[in-house]
Amino acid sequence: MRWHRGPAHGELPFVARPGTLPSALDAVERLAESPRQLALFLDYDGTLTPIVSRPEDAVLSPEMRERVRAVAHRLPVVIVSGRGRRNVADLVGIDGLGYVGSHGFDIIGPEGSGVAREVAADVLPLLDDAEKELRDALGDIPGALVERKRFGIAVHFRLVADGAFARVERAVQDALERRPQLRRAEGKKVVELRPDVDWDKGCAVLWLLDELGLSEAHPIHIGDDLTDETVFTAIADRGTGIFVGSDDRPTAATLRLDDPRQVGEFLDRLAAAS
Ligand SMILES: [Mg+2]
Repeated sequence: MRWHRGPAHGELPFVARPGTLPSALDAVERLAESPRQLALFLDYDGTLTPIVSRPEDAVLSPEMRERVRAVAHRLPVVIVSGRGRRNVADLVGIDGLGYVGSHGFDIIGPEGSGVAREVAADVLPLLDDAEKELRDALGDIPGALVERKRFGIAVHFRLVADGAFARVERAVQDALERRPQLRRAEGKKVVELRPDVDWDKGCAVLWLLDELGLSEAHPIHIGDDLTDETVFTAIADRGTGIFVGSDDRPTAATLRLDDPRQVGEFLDRLAAAS
């Protein structure tokens, strides 16, 4: 299967600077006139909601919820997020959408589609086990926080004193060494243990298109994260990637929106034109 080949989609070359891309607002009519069925994939944080410093503050506005709902009346809509699938589904709160959580590992099609997949389900007992071990090892270190996601364990050390940092690192290393099926991913003052599986958001979107009978559709993906590049690249031969934000990093998207406000405007126009 093509989406099992090679490393993550995001490691393929990026092609453009966002500032050089045309606005997606000027492309709505052209997209709506596509002879192929459109299918819309939407990131959540930074795309449907403004970026906030605490993830729990990223609340969907009632206006944006109505816009997503209006588009979903006209074409298939799937939310794609790094958050846990249930968490992002609760935040969006719209029935009838598909949801992809945990960076692509946890997939469910729209209600009634019967489509669902947990990509690394066999690794779940291992994650349970590693979570327990890390909680035991780090329980007495002030500031160390173990956050379990369904397909990952995040160890936060922002609040850990310098003198205790080596113990956190040792515990993470031990947990990884005992479980070659897990790999480490670095974040800002956080290290995450994840299944060592060649899979990403792009793989999940291609798989879902196939399962939903949309392999001939024209997918549109809107997102602002580095991980959204895996989707832009995966759909480049058949669809349209829309970059959100003012970052100047290279992207595989071909259109741009400046911020969630423009995403809302794009959704309005798309609903009206479809
Ligand atoms: Mg985002």
